[in-house]
Amino acid sequence: MNGFIRKSGCCLTVALALLASFSAITSAQQAEPLGSVTYRLSMSRPVSHLFEVAIEVELPKDSTAKSLDFQMPKWSPGRYAVFDFAKNVQEFQALGGICPPAEVKCVQPNFPVSRVDDQTWRVETMNTHSVTIRYRVFGNDLSGTFSQLDSRHANYNGGSIFMYVVNHKPDRVKLVIEPPPGWRIVNGRMDRSDQREWQFPNYDIMIDTPTEIAADWTEDQFQVDGKRYRVVVHSFGDEGGKRAGLVRDIEKIVRAETAMWGPPEFDSYTFLIHFAADDHSGDGMEHLTSTQIIEPGALWEEGVYGSTLDTVAHEFFHVWNVKRLRPVELGPWDFTRPVSTRGLWVAEGITNYYGHLMRRRAGLWDDSAFLRRESETITGIENAPGAHLMSAEDSSLSAPFLDDAPHAQRTNLPNTSISYYPKGELIGLVLDLMIRGKTNGKASLDDVMRRMYDEFYLKSPNASYYLRGRGYTTEDFERVASEVGGLDLSRFFGYYVRGVGVLPYEEAFTSVGLSLVREQARQPFNAGIGIAWEDKDRLTIGVVRPRSPAEEAGLAEGDEIISLGKKNISRENFLVSLSRFKQGDRVPITVKRDRRTIQATLVLGAPERFEYRITERKDATPEQKALSAAWLKGS
Ligand SMILES: [Zn+2]
Ligand SMILES: [Zn+2]
Repeated sequence: MNGFIRKSGCCLTVALALLASFSAITSAQQAEPLGSVTYRLSMSRPVSHLFEVAIEVELPKDSTAKSLDFQMPKWSPGRYAVFDFAKNVQEFQALGGICPPAEVKCVQPNFPVSRVDDQTWRVETMNTHSVTIRYRVFGNDLSGTFSQLDSRHANYNGGSIFMYVVNHKPDRVKLVIEPPPGWRIVNGRMDRSDQREWQFPNYDIMIDTPTEIAADWTEDQFQVDGKRYRVVVHSFGDEGGKRAGLVRDIEKIVRAETAMWGPPEFDSYTFLIHFAADDHSGDGMEHLTSTQIIEPGALWEEGVYGSTLDTVAHEFFHVWNVKRLRPVELGPWDFTRPVSTRGLWVAEGITNYYGHLMRRRAGLWDDSAFLRRESETITGIENAPGAHLMSAEDSSLSAPFLDDAPHAQRTNLPNTSISYYPKGELIGLVLDLMIRGKTNGKASLDDVMRRMYDEFYLKSPNASYYLRGRGYTTEDFERVASEVGGLDLSRFFGYYVRGVGVLPYEEAFTSVGLSLVREQARQPFNAGIGIAWEDKDRLTIGVVRPRSPAEEAGLAEGDEIISLGKKNISRENFLVSLSRFKQGDRVPITVKRDRRTIQATLVLGAPERFEYRITERKDATPEQKALSAAWLKGS
């Protein structure tokens, strides 16, 4: 991503064309399976942050292959930006033969290695039938996308540390982990507690098994519908005695979500939760039989408990929506180019919707907490300038630029893009209420999702080596939603999914006896400035809105605001100091840009921001109230 994004348009096109032809070649060559592929992972010096990987490959007896290509993924499932994990690989070497694990004096000749491209190493097989490659890979990020090895633990996401053998991603693989003394291994595929070896049907499933290795994680368990759930917690801060309650509340979420979907397909599932207590590491990542959740705070702290449950409700819903029922492009994976799918507003957005709805159905929120949350999402989307420019499907296709993508080049994305998370959430909300209203409660989005799962996951023949069933297109989703709702949804999808029309909120809310109130936001003027609150040291402009007073005044993203209305200003007093202004005021502003101090005048414009609030209709009928109760309680 970094390399491409800095180049001019012409070079970007050429690079993408090359990548496309490369993947066409790789998929055309469905090679005979290798004799065996064994991954050995060790970590002899945790303080170095270097994972040590060995891959032992046996070729088929009759193989005439002159070379094998080993490739590092460009990205990892669930996070759709390109991170080029090859950049952290070092000391790649190839050796002839495979040493028996216990053999101390095993001598292996060095085999020639050449670098083919940014992600690929080619090893000559020298007319032998077995090779071992070794490399180290640096990892020091606690994240569901990256990996971390330090003196406290090893926590890895397989895609960021394991190479695959090109053309052999479908082959069976074995994994052996050698932990440091006293450290215990845990992941979502444990047959016994001291397990150190795993067999996986293919590489894609191996890297879908994030793993934690440390001395001091804790484990709690519960059962629902005969399935075993494990809550593994590694806390770097104080828990304040809240862990037992957290486990009980996670169980409530599991019960609410399995009540909608029916019992899940697995025998056991693992929540791998870190409380990082570092104020920056935060993530949630879905997997087939586990999830990684990383909270930047400590469990005892205000807000952390609720935020963890929010992520749990979202990630566990992914067990069905995205991990098994999936857009056609999401598995098997092509790790040689950025993923391109129109379906993330379903996969992530509708998951966001249900994540919130399930907190209500689990009894962790009351009606008003859930409706407040949806009101905030509407307020966010309807005030975003990008909502008028980017559709839900466009947002999904732009995921490689949006999903935590690193940007060295400045972009206008804050003004031109929307996230498929909140937009997809609102499409799900409106679609759900419209179907409930039109069918008088006989059908809902719950039925659409169950029907999709049944048709594409459970009942479709396997389309690939990767997983059961086949993927869906957004046209498939439109058809199933139309059939379940007894509606022609072509106009709805054209306007609100592929287009940028404002969703028909009022029609949707009326069907359950609710209404959407739009009120002018508290600030009685518009300046067109968004603050970069993540910059903890300074008061910095994060966004300048197009055609706004800030743009007219020549202000820019990255400017540090020094004074406003001739008074010094900081992060702490910024919001209070705004309250003394009104529309039409000419407000002197001083900013620092690079080494310059710039004076400008903001001519405050008419307020443009509105707050949205979902309220009960006074004239709600008993039928509408019954529909609302069924929606919120999931009956
Ligand atoms: Zn850990
Ligand atoms: Zn998600």
